[in-house]
Formats: sequence, structure tokens, C-alpha cells
Amino acid sequence: MQADLDSGRHTGVITRFPPEPNGYLHIGHAKSICINFGLAAQFGGRCHMRFDDTNPAKEDDEYVQSILNDVRWLGFSWGEHLYNASDYFEACYDLAVKLIRAGKAYVDSQTDAEIRETRGTVTEAGVNSPFRDRSAEENLDLFARMRAGEFADGAHVLRGKGDMSAANMKLRDPLLFRIRHAHHHRTGDAWCIYPMYDYAHPISDALEHITHSICTLEFENNRDIYDWVIDNCDLPSKPKQYEFARLNMSYVVVSKRKLLRLVKEGHVRGWDDPRMPTLAGQRRRGVTPEAIRLFCERIGVAKANSLVDLALYEGAIRDDLNGRAPRGMAVLRPLRVVIENWPEGQREALEAPLWPPEIAHEGSRTLSFSREIWIDRDDFMEDPPRKFFRLSPGAEVRLRYGYIIRCVGVEKDDAGTIIGLRCTYDPTSRGGNALDGRKVQGTIQWVSVDDAHEVEVRIYDRLFNHERPDAGEEDFLTHVNPNALTVVRAMVEPMLGNANAGERYQFEREGYFFVDLLDSKPGAPVYNRTVALKDSWAKQTAVAPAASAAPTATVRQERPEPVRAPENRARTPAATAAFDRYVLLGLSGPDAAVLADDEALGALFDEARHGFEDAKAVANLVMNDVAALRKVHGFRAAGREIGRVAQLLDVGHITSRTAKDLLMVLATEGGDAAAIVKARGWAVVNDRGAVEAAARTVLADHPTEVAAFCAGKASLLGFFVGKVMKATGGKAQPQVVQEIVRSMLDA
Ligand code: ATP
Ligand code: MG
Repeated sequence: MQADLDSGRHTGVITRFPPEPNGYLHIGHAKSICINFGLAAQFGGRCHMRFDDTNPAKEDDEYVQSILNDVRWLGFSWGEHLYNASDYFEACYDLAVKLIRAGKAYVDSQTDAEIRETRGTVTEAGVNSPFRDRSAEENLDLFARMRAGEFADGAHVLRGKGDMSAANMKLRDPLLFRIRHAHHHRTGDAWCIYPMYDYAHPISDALEHITHSICTLEFENNRDIYDWVIDNCDLPSKPKQYEFARLNMSYVVVSKRKLLRLVKEGHVRGWDDPRMPTLAGQRRRGVTPEAIRLFCERIGVAKANSLVDLALYEGAIRDDLNGRAPRGMAVLRPLRVVIENWPEGQREALEAPLWPPEIAHEGSRTLSFSREIWIDRDDFMEDPPRKFFRLSPGAEVRLRYGYIIRCVGVEKDDAGTIIGLRCTYDPTSRGGNALDGRKVQGTIQWVSVDDAHEVEVRIYDRLFNHERPDAGEEDFLTHVNPNALTVVRAMVEPMLGNANAGERYQFEREGYFFVDLLDSKPGAPVYNRTVALKDSWAKQTAVAPAASAAPTATVRQERPEPVRAPENRARTPAATAAFDRYVLLGLSGPDAAVLADDEALGALFDEARHGFEDAKAVANLVMNDVAALRKVHGFRAAGREIGRVAQLLDVGHITSRTAKDLLMVLATEGGDAAAIVKARGWAVVNDRGAVEAAARTVLADHPTEVAAFCAGKASLLGFFVGKVMKATGGKAQPQVVQEIVRSMLDA
């Protein structure tokens, strides 16, 4: 894209995202959306939203609405550029008529089977259709009658005259139009012939002046037809097709056809089931659009197909939620503990922060400690292995924010099932450390029985228990993980029991949870586990609820070697962390990469943000101006001053021209941005009167140019604006100058 702009082949970038409305968007589409909308934004262009609705049979308006909603949710906007391939059916038809007239297309009356058989193979050339040499008149007549509905499906097709011996089989007389007596969700019954994707797509692109038509690798062979259509049809622009690798992820299926089967055959509750890799499903599960964009930045773009480890996706989700989900305590598999030496009826308020110290958010809530508490069944073992640092008979454990307790007894029912524990607490250990300083290794979460809320928690796991569910001969549905959803009744602290739909929390030691938007009621939240804190797959038995913990029922699976996508950039952990942080601040992937890979520049950016918090505005100056200045002059002023410059620009106090001069002074002499602007009189001339006076003088001084402008030479506007800008010492706002000059000239 940069090369095309540099060479002048294009003056701007226009891309498009062209889904077929035959299903919901999935995580693979997110990659395509981020690429198309992301690149357009990066190059100051735009991205069109276009439905590829050339196949009437499978399309539906429900899908159209869900797709629009999902793209918006991901954070992208197509502005007014919402189109449909069906908007161009008439254009496709007219262009086909021209192709026929030019002898470049013909109506073929062979059957589907004959067409297939005469196409040849990779090693053998095809055979020309006996109808290939029909006259233009006959072709025009038949094509018109195809449109008029005189023929049954399959009776005729329109084919382009390619080359039946072309090495690329796609070029062997490609199909352009076929007969389909089917109702279309937008055009209704207006058409009974429909253009093929390979024909309609380049035409749609060209009519919309798309510059870069980006698609997935399986369309590489179709590029020749793409170019054939562009070269042979009478079109207003010449777009080019570029391919990139599809996203394939371990343990996930990304194909709308297969996702439809999961829905239709009842393996999930719908397209938005949180087990589904659809954007609707992931949203319902609690994944944020930022997490998905972060993931797409991390996997990058490449031309080699690869399998991305699901762990990479889950890592992005955790990194995103870490900073936005307050911490709370929940006990998913409750076991009652009585603290024998705690007085009956006594309660003690404990202050607990909502955030760990490394996250710069404030806030806390009050927990109440009492004689009876819930702890997690899995945090107790009657017969523990070595190095089990939680509770067991005679052993001690720390209750988070509370006291150290020791297990002194185990209660069982007649069947021998543990139904409760007897413990004592150490009164000197409030807040977690005993007075005598003895070491207690483990810390566990707990909830007071007194004020616990019982809530429904849906624990989601991978939908498939096979790394590549659809790679083998067998039906991919045989690999559906029957334990992908487990519902438990959990005991949670009051804050979590009173949570509202749409809120996110980290349940300490468990994972990130989202209050379901559909099934929650006031006072009765239903939680979805968005992602566990650690990759639980390797030790799945540890997270299975007690009820289903029978060893036979759980899938035990070795964690596969992570398959690194080749496009993963090689970075040190510190640089990777920096990169992620920058992306989460809203910077584009390439910008984040520049700052992450240049440690000194990254540090300067971090400092600059102390002067102004708008990350994009600051990054813009740091990368475009400061990076170059620094190489030649170093940078003498404090990094914070760069932020101040960004802020002065943002509020319109200085022009971008002045910003450059100001940065130069800051780099070479140091000092304070605002003071320099003041001392040198660099503030923008906001005074319209001054600009008008300057404009009046300029117009009076150039009567010939004014006359030429009035005679229609509109391009002179720039000339006047330039003169007025100069007269104000470059301190006026160009937009204001332009507006004033234009209104004076019009008058
Ligand atoms: P599916 O196989 O899921 O039906 P598709 O390619 O038929 O996918 P479209 O609706 O035609 O789905 O896709 C819209 C755009 O999204 C296309 O440009 C397509 O290349 C892209 N896309 C689809 N799946 C992926 C994926 N897994 N990774 C990256 N891009 C994808
Ligand atoms: Mg498709």
C-alpha cells in the first residue's frame, strides 16, 4: 500500500470487507476485519462493508443484521459505505451483454456434468464446448431469455471465453451467470439468473473504486479470473487482489457451514452460545472487542497457512481483562468450614482492595469474617501429596485478607463423603501473617456463610477435545467436548452476588467471569467463565466440579506443543509486554511495534504521556517528528514536554507547522513547551479579525488572480490561502483561513 501511494498508482487506500450473509461472523472473520479496516485506517483511507450476496439460497437478513452488529462491536465503522453485491446485478448483466457483443462470452447449454467432464484435469487440457461458437445474436437472445425466466435451473449458463487449455483450470471458460429460480433476501424475485462470485466480486470492487482487494489464500487461483474480468469488462477502476493466510486455531472450527451444523444439530444453544467461536458467542462469554483486536495484532498477517494455538487467543483475553476486571472472591465448589474458636454470632469487617498493587486502579470493598465460611472443596485434601500447600488435617492455610486457619477435624456423611471441616484460627494473624512470623505457604479464597450469595456459574471449556477437529476423515462432530459446559452453584461475596449484567470480575484464583446479558436478573446474576486464569487444559480434573469429578468422565489431555504462528514476531518478553501495552492504549499494531522494538523511543513515549494522555496523539509526534529529530540532535527537554506539545496541538493553541518548530527547539535547547510558545508569540491567531484583515490585503494585492478565480479557476484558492497564512506568520488555522478567503471571494 505504501509503495502504491509512493508511486502515485493510488492517491488513497480503499479496502472492503465482503462477508457472505449465510452465517454469523467468527474469530477468523475478525482477522479479516482487522486487516481490512485496520490497514485502511493506517493509510488514512476507508473500508467498505459489502455483502457478497450472490447466492440467494443460503442467505438471510438475520445474518445481515448480526454481521453489521459484530463489525460495529469490534470497533470499526464503514461510514456511509454499506453495499451489496446485489446492488450490482444490473451492472453485471450489462457488462455481460458487452462481453457477448465483443465475442468474449457465450451461452453454454451443456449440462453441469458435461461442463465438469469437459473441463479437463490438472494434467489434461479441457475440450471446447460445442456451443462455444454461437453467434453474438444467438447468445444475446438466449441470455435475455435466461433472464426473462424461460429456462429451468441448469439449462444454460453464461461462460467467459477463457482458454480451455489454460494451466490454471479456473481460466477454462469460467462461469459468469447461472440460472437459479430462487427468492433473494434483497432483490426478491426480480432475478432468476445470478452472477457467480468470481465475476461479481471484481466488478463490485471496481465499481466501488476499491484499491486493494484483500482475501484469503484459497482465492489465489481465482486471481487470474479476477484480472480477466477487470481487463475485459468496461470498468471505472482497476483494483488488484492480494491474499493472506486464513486464521486456523487449534481446538476451534472456523467455517460457517460447520458452525451451522453445531447449531442445527443441537450441540450448542445457538450462534451466540459462549462455546461458539462466533463473535456473538465470544461477546456473550465476556470477551471484549479490545481483546480480539489485541489477538489479531499479535498473530499479524502472513501468506503461509498455520495453526494458531488457542492459548495465544486466551492469553490476549487475560491480558485485556487483567486491567479491567476488579477482583472478588467466589467459591465454585463450596465446602463448609466451622471455625471453632471464633465466637458464635461475631462478625468482623475486613477491608479488601479490588485491584492488585501492580494495577493502578483504586477501590476496595468490605468483607465480613464470621464463624462459618465456605472454601473450595479442591482446596482441601484428606490425604495430600507432598507439596500440597492448601488445607489438610493438621495443616494451616491463609484465608485471603483474613486469618490463618488450621484444620482440626473432618465431618463426613454415612457414605463417607466429606461434608464439612472443623478449623481453628490464629487470632494474631489478621491480614495474613502470624505474630510469631511462621511461614504459611498457601492462600485460598473464602466467603462468609453469613452473607454469601448463591449464584449460577457456567464454566466453559474448549468446544472440541481434538487439536484439529476437522482435519481427519471422520466427522468433526465426533470431537465435540461433552464437558465444554459445566454449570455449578457457587457461593460468592456480596459484591459479586449484587453484580449487574455486563460486568466483569476476576474470581481470585479461578479466572475472569462475565455477568450474562440475557439470563441474569437483578439480585441473581448468572456468570459465564470467559477464561480461566491459567491454561486449565493440562490439568482439567482440577477445575471440574466435584459432581462430575469422577475420573472416567473427564477428558485428560496432554497440552500439545504450542504451534507458533510463523508470523509471530520474535521479541523479548519485555518488548512483547510493551507491544501489548501500546496496543491496549489504542495504538495500531505497526505503531506499537515501532515503539516496542525501539526501547529508548518507547521510554520517551511513556514519558511523553505524562504530559498528555491521548496515546495516539502523543505517538503521532513521537514517531513522526521526535524519532527523526532525536537521531540528529538528541532530545534535551523532558519527555513530558512532547506530551505538552501534543496537547497544545489538540486544543488548537498551535498549528502542526508550529509543533514541528517547537519540537526542534525542545530537542536542541530544551525548556518548557508552553513558555516557548508564549515567548516566541507562536500561539495560533484565533482572532478572526486579524485573519480577515490579512485576507483583505492579500486579495487587494492580487487583482489578476482574483479575476481569474472569479472566471472559474477554482484551483487558485490554495494560492490565496498560502499568501494569507504567510501574512499571519503561519499562525492562523488553515481551515479558518480557507473559510474566510472563500467567503470573501464568493462575495
Ligand atoms: P466460511 O468458510 O467460514 O464460510 P468464508 O470465507 O466463506 O468463510 P465469507 O463470509 O465469504 O466467509 O468471508 C468474508 C471474508 O472473511 C472473506 O474475505 C474471507 O476470506 C474472510 N475470512 C473467512 N474466514 C476467515 C479466516 N478463518 N481467517 C481469515 N479470514 C477469513
Ligand atoms: Mg465465502
